[in-house]
Amino acid sequence: MEFDHILIRYGEMALKGKNIKVFINQLHHNVHQKVKDFPNVKVKRTQGRMFILLNGTDPEPVMEKCRNIFGIHSLSLAIKVENDIDKIKEAALYALQQGKNIKTFKVSVKRINKEFPFKSQELNHILGGHLLANTEDITVDVHHPDVEVKIEIRQEATYITSGVTLGLGGLPVGTSGKSLLLLSGGIDSPVAGYLAMKRGVAIEAIHFHSPPYTSDRAKQKVLDLTKQLTKFGKSINVHIVPFTKLQQEIFREMPEAYAMTIMRRMMFRIAEAVCEKEEILSLTTGENLGQVASQTMESMHTINEVTNYPVIRPLVTMDKLEVIEISQQIGTYETSILPYEDCCTIFVPKSPKTKPKRHKVNFYESKHDFHATLQETLEGIETIKITEKMKTEDAFTNLL
Ligand code: ATP
Ligand code: MG
Repeated sequence: MEFDHILIRYGEMALKGKNIKVFINQLHHNVHQKVKDFPNVKVKRTQGRMFILLNGTDPEPVMEKCRNIFGIHSLSLAIKVENDIDKIKEAALYALQQGKNIKTFKVSVKRINKEFPFKSQELNHILGGHLLANTEDITVDVHHPDVEVKIEIRQEATYITSGVTLGLGGLPVGTSGKSLLLLSGGIDSPVAGYLAMKRGVAIEAIHFHSPPYTSDRAKQKVLDLTKQLTKFGKSINVHIVPFTKLQQEIFREMPEAYAMTIMRRMMFRIAEAVCEKEEILSLTTGENLGQVASQTMESMHTINEVTNYPVIRPLVTMDKLEVIEISQQIGTYETSILPYEDCCTIFVPKSPKTKPKRHKVNFYESKHDFHATLQETLEGIETIKITEKMKTEDAFTNLL
């Protein structure tokens, strides 16, 4: 006997009423995509549950994949047996014995198939007795058991589980539309992307780079971060914007104290143009209130003026330490702290305005026509598709 299934419990989406079909279909698709490299594995939906049939596959790597899929509330290894009392007894004992250092247990029977000849309460007793009789030094504790042996008697079969692993929760990626993530090489924006994905948002990324002031290694770093995010969703298109000329023009033509604000406005304008082309309905950034000069309330107000697209800012209320903790959990931290220069760190005004006013910025912008350079910048955008399995060193040749 062995665990031959993984049982997937839906998260918050179980609450979604009429839309539940859409959510389940997307989750089913996402799970299928993540496990399709295991040749014997099958994914099956039933009412209120999803199962992975392992067909002899080692469960651990499959569980590991599933632990990174949004929309899964929890996972359990399960044994499937016929609706037969002796088979159920045997499987329940096996499930209990797989736990380590177990001192107490509880049996919970859910009888969905009302034709099964024993009632739930009866079964709790029969199975509890069977487990006690066949183990040593283990007792029943109905309130705080070390392990809960769960028996679900369904129409087609009975599933037995012991032990629960929490999933990531959230909503299946793809159920909340798409957003364009402004991805720098820093700590914050990858975390922002992850959190947007957690709400079911699929992402594309846009990165501004300024060669030769920023190196290929800085670009590589962004591709690596993108790849780390694909683990939680699907492949991600990255739009790489050649920003040098426009940045130089801003720093040449605009008062230095306002250059940073204007540079950010240009980023939003360019991002919005990419959204329009790719039919994306929102932007996502790693902005956080109060961290730096460009992230004061006044700054956000002035930068945000140039777009009426929704700007999702998942980190806006977080402390830096909270963001760092998430970046460590999702595996982007080590890459983010690599020291390669960013376009924003190179062109930094000595004393940027921390409270830039809209009317002043509009006045300065009206004094110079950026149109031609903006156009040229847009035309120079390269798009690279990053997949979970590719080596990102090969990404430069993966232009779309
Ligand atoms: P991060 O850690 O994400 O770099 P940050 O704390 O350094 O953020 P800023 O430099 O003010 O903050 O950038 C704010 C946001 O603007 C970033 O989180 C990111 O979404 C976007 N951004 C900044 N630089 C770039 C860039 N070179 N390419 C794309 N987006 C960028
Ligand atoms: Mg940064």
